Amino acid sequence: MMAKEKKLVEEITAMEDDFAQWYTDVVRKADLVDYSSVRGSMIIRPYGYAIWEHIQKELDRQIKETGHENVYLPLFIPESLLQKEKDHIEGFAPEVAWVTHGGEEKLAERLCVRPTSEVLFCEHYANIIHSYRDLPKLYNQWGNVVRWEKTTRPFLRSLEFLWQEGHTCHATDEEAGEETRRMLEVYADVCEEHLAVPVLRGRKTDKEKFAGAKFTLTIESLMHDGKALQTGTSHHLGSGFAEAFGIQYTDKQGKLQHVHQTSWGITTRLIGALIMVHGDNRGLVLPPKIAPVQVMVIPIAQHKEGVLDKAHELKDRLNRKARAGIDESDKSPGWKFSEHEMKGVPLRIEIGPKDIEKKQAVAVRRDSGEKIVLSLEELETHIPFLLEDIQKSLLQKAKAHCQEKTNIARTMDEFKQVLESNPGFIKAMWCGERQCEDQIKEETGATSRCMPFEQEEISKTCVCCGKEAEQLVYWAKAY
Ligand SMILES: [Zn+2]
Repeated sequence: MMAKEKKLVEEITAMEDDFAQWYTDVVRKADLVDYSSVRGSMIIRPYGYAIWEHIQKELDRQIKETGHENVYLPLFIPESLLQKEKDHIEGFAPEVAWVTHGGEEKLAERLCVRPTSEVLFCEHYANIIHSYRDLPKLYNQWGNVVRWEKTTRPFLRSLEFLWQEGHTCHATDEEAGEETRRMLEVYADVCEEHLAVPVLRGRKTDKEKFAGAKFTLTIESLMHDGKALQTGTSHHLGSGFAEAFGIQYTDKQGKLQHVHQTSWGITTRLIGALIMVHGDNRGLVLPPKIAPVQVMVIPIAQHKEGVLDKAHELKDRLNRKARAGIDESDKSPGWKFSEHEMKGVPLRIEIGPKDIEKKQAVAVRRDSGEKIVLSLEELETHIPFLLEDIQKSLLQKAKAHCQEKTNIARTMDEFKQVLESNPGFIKAMWCGERQCEDQIKEETGATSRCMPFEQEEISKTCVCCGKEAEQLVYWAKAY
């Protein structure tokens, strides 16, 4: 058994040796996805899907709490409709998948498989919005979209992914702006309070903003390897789409006005963030709030009389306070420990004949490995505290990691040196010129992640050209 147990752990590459391979190993060994026969498409396995459902459940609750309704729009977009907003089609054209035939018959107009649904919502809104009484319209859609990506990785970049996309219409530009910020805060809350993934809030530069938007707000997170991941975006669309699609309403004075719109989305990428923020060389580490199983009861010497009964009793009791499971398979306890560590189960409870005798059980934390002996009586009262503590510790640890990997650069030499020695976020001043943004990317591989809401003046001059600086920008290599 020992050799086999060792093997289960050995099959993960150490993250220090090859982070990309470590990620792939965790995704497969924790049984989150399987590959399909179409390159870049993934099968989300039950365990991976259960994580998504927990994220979805919390986000959906908050989306509804902020006044939005769920709808569902079609998967296909006629080419002529997609082309109505010029910037939008230019932004998405390179990664659109087209349907040209229905059965044997060639279609009169080809249909695109939605890469995002702005134009579909716009067409619909033009039909249903007429008066100021129809506003605001606050719709959200849970669905899938397709983007024909060249290089793909499970959860991070795949041809098809799951997401939600909010699409709203407002009477004024100001209201749309408030909505854009409100939904960014909802995303930030889900990430920090539920996924224990700290986020940096800010605004995208014009280069990085959504195709067709007035501006894009973003939350960015730092992964364990020092690369950034865009965890959610919220776009103020202004009235550009409304003008292109004729979405107008009669205001209180009887005057015809264009609506002001927003759109916002988060995707199954968040699962990639979870893996890369919390995971370690033993596998996945899940924050309790979104873990499919929060506590796994593992009987020790389960063939002995009374052990399995006791283990079941504990599981049933724990189920009243947490999502508890029991592993009564015939694998050895050591094997089970490794397996549930791999799957990131926040807590395991070991119970064997000696524990029963002493009226106790041993709880082991996935995040720290700490062993805690608990009396059986106090089990239900202690477990929720432990889970809460794990949740908090994970956020704190991730915040500390992010801070450690956030550096300042005042010159390009400093920029390159820091990116090499301690990759992560780099705070540097920027003049606002696209040319400098391009040059930084070309020379260093880092892109502008956002202009943070909390601005600081690190220096007076642009890190790239030396001219007067306009903004502090966070830069990083990104997924
Ligand atoms: Zn510059």
